[in-house]
Amino acid sequence: MLILLTIQVFYAESMKKLHNYINGELIPPVSGDYFDNYDPSRGIPYSLIPDSDKRDIDLAVEAAKNAFPEWSNLSKEARSEFMLKISNRIQERMDEFVKAESLDNGKPEKLAAHVDIPRAVSNFKFFATAILHFASESHYMEGLGVNYTLRKPIGVVGCISPWNLPLYLFSWKIAPALAAGNTVVAKPSEITPMTAYLLSEVCKEVGLPNGVLNIVHGMGAKVGDAISHDVNIKAISFTGGTQTGKIIASIAAPMFKKLSLELGGKNPNIIFDDCDFDKMLSTTMRSSFANQGQICLCGSRIFIQEGIFEKFKKAFVEKVSKSIVSNPTDPNAQLGAVVSKPHMEKILSYVELAKEEGGTVLTGGERVILDGEYKEGYYIRPTVIEGLEYNCRTNQEEIFGPVVTITPFKDEEEVMMMANSTQYGLSATVWTNNLNRAHRVADQLNCGIVWINSWLVRDLRTPFGGTKASGVGREGGFEALRFFTEAKNVFISNE
Ligand code: NDP
Repeated sequence: MLILLTIQVFYAESMKKLHNYINGELIPPVSGDYFDNYDPSRGIPYSLIPDSDKRDIDLAVEAAKNAFPEWSNLSKEARSEFMLKISNRIQERMDEFVKAESLDNGKPEKLAAHVDIPRAVSNFKFFATAILHFASESHYMEGLGVNYTLRKPIGVVGCISPWNLPLYLFSWKIAPALAAGNTVVAKPSEITPMTAYLLSEVCKEVGLPNGVLNIVHGMGAKVGDAISHDVNIKAISFTGGTQTGKIIASIAAPMFKKLSLELGGKNPNIIFDDCDFDKMLSTTMRSSFANQGQICLCGSRIFIQEGIFEKFKKAFVEKVSKSIVSNPTDPNAQLGAVVSKPHMEKILSYVELAKEEGGTVLTGGERVILDGEYKEGYYIRPTVIEGLEYNCRTNQEEIFGPVVTITPFKDEEEVMMMANSTQYGLSATVWTNNLNRAHRVADQLNCGIVWINSWLVRDLRTPFGGTKASGVGREGGFEALRFFTEAKNVFISNE
């Protein structure tokens, strides 16, 4: 027993300790406590996360308040320069960021190298330059005068992000907030803190002024909650689950904080029988299982028109069953580990629910045990289920893993009814070569983003977000800069 305890203490002491980044310094949490950060590919802890609380948020807010006057009064060009330096430095440290993201999250390194980190680099670059083109509006009134609209930074803002695309979504919030002249208190997910920690190192390296960006690690119920409650934080940009979004809104709305909430999804992938079958099939593999199905934009409900249902089912199941589930460093891995043990258990419980609801698992549906050091990792075989009603729980609730259902449909009317039937409204994918139908269906889908004959094509200038329980507000392009500024209209009379 004593030996075991000694080994555990030694192990804990030898693990890398992350620090909070407050007022330009990398510092321990006020509590002095840490908790384990897990490597999901091996199922073991590998670093220690600061167990921060309200006291750390107080320090961060104080630093951000002090930094605000100078940062908001810097020229746009000067702020832009800092952000370009951050972007370039992440680019220079690309390999390190890629490995860190993959280790922390379980995603294949290949994916982090092609999507996560390059997109984080682009986010900083994009908003560094977008702010230079962010013009204020003016409205002339004949004979009376002219209105012009000033857009001022808000002050100290909070950014809270999830674990699925850790640095990508963290930077998607921080970059527009900083570009617009705000100072920031940010919290990454406790489950994937590592690249946010590396970002704080980068901010120090490029000499970002103290207090402009503060990153506080720790649990949502303590650190996130303190951000929601703090009266000095005037706006919160949150991405995460719908339930957490409700909690944040219930605390922040009565304080009249500005809120941007990017929440869950249960996206339809609608396949008409006149589509380009091969292109649809390979893209549907990605839209179903990229990042182990843990992208809010993945299409987890696949609707296929009757005429090609059997053909699709055969080809899709064959392809899915051959997918390579492997450790994230394997260059052949198509799927890596899911993010945590509780999340793996949640996903597998939904497979059981699907069976109870009368579904048939066509392929997958179970945990994958890899060899050697990866045998305790959290791997799930990609799963395809058929035979479920469109309105059963499996087809209505967000699973957020490598599990999709396939459902046949007769015509547009029927599929529109099923596609729009959930509480969510984030995104949809439509496959058809009929131009009129493509426009018609895009118009009728109740969601914020529609891809026709494609998936996950992102132009950073376009509005990003969902309807219904998928959120409130839009991110992306000038929408994000509008969110992170207050508009003030000024009228000047002609007379
Ligand atoms: P959570 O809602 O559990 O967590 C998101 C963030 O909120 C984390 O940083 C979390 O901290 C923090 N948090 C948790 N509880 C609180 C609280 N009471 N107050 C303030 N902050 C809190 O989501 P997940 O991290 O599990 O991410 C998955 C979800 O995110 C899915 O529903 C997915 O659809 C959604 N998502 C939506 C996107 C969109 O653009 N619409 C994009 C990507 C994901 P901690 O991790 O420490 O608990």
